[in-house]
Amino acid sequence: MALKGKVAVVTGSTSGIGLGIARALAAEGADIMLNGFGDGAAIEALRAGMAAEFGVRVAYDGADLSKAEGVAGLIGAAEAELGAVDVLVNNAGIQFVAPVDEFPNEKWEQVIALNLSAVFYGMKAAIPGMKARGWGRIINIASAHGLVASAGKVAYVAAKHGVVGATKVAALELANAGVTVNAICPGWVLTPLVQKQIEDRAKANGTTVEEEKIKLLSEKQPMHKFTTPEHLGALAVFLCSDGAETMTGVVHSMDGGWVAQ
Ligand code: NAD
Repeated sequence: MALKGKVAVVTGSTSGIGLGIARALAAEGADIMLNGFGDGAAIEALRAGMAAEFGVRVAYDGADLSKAEGVAGLIGAAEAELGAVDVLVNNAGIQFVAPVDEFPNEKWEQVIALNLSAVFYGMKAAIPGMKARGWGRIINIASAHGLVASAGKVAYVAAKHGVVGATKVAALELANAGVTVNAICPGWVLTPLVQKQIEDRAKANGTTVEEEKIKLLSEKQPMHKFTTPEHLGALAVFLCSDGAETMTGVVHSMDGGWVAQ
């Protein structure tokens, strides 16, 4: 229960990686502010279920983080309802795939707003409280695409490279404030975000979803295995621990060897 008494905000935690990280932090005793979209009744069941399973306080705020006010509102709501923001996991993200010359402007704006600008606004809003308390952990979920590119993903790759840069800047600024700032760069994780890409590819290529899963993995990863939200949750817990006190400004790949090539 290394995080008992701490409060963690995990953006985009109604699904996928964010949910896995929120559950892992709750299992260590952290109170949790959930965020993300979805069916109201399903989210309430998730919130109440997590609170009961882990014996921690769990709140939910459905702020749209593609807007600066939404991000500041989420941090403010966590401070008001749970008392502080000790851990911030900037995880919410979306994807859109098209060649640069066909990429719709509004899709560029949407991906940059959520995948990059929300990370900046989140850190900006949470840092003053962390500094005042002399302790904080910021974990930005970037991607293998924060380090290398793939065709068709101009906005996503630009945003994730930006997240890696912003992580390093914040880490330098907070080096003696008791606050660490790190990025996690997952490879393929089988979440709704990736499932949709696989289904789109199967449709486009006239193949099955199972065939596309193997193709997708083997195109990028030497290891033909999906990383899971639970693997990423375990890394996030370590980054929040005392053992990781001097680990800051680091990009942590968990990607089946993707960027080792
Ligand atoms: P997901 O689609 O399963 O979950 C995304 C979450 O973000 C959901 O809770 C959704 O409701 C929320 N969300 C979407 N738009 C939002 C908005 N405007 N405001 C607030 N919340 C919003 O996705 P995932 O695969 O779990 O991805 C999570 C993060 O991990 C993203 O930043 C993604 O880029 C990154 N990532 C994913 C993979 C992968 O293979 N799945 C790999 C590398 C990085």
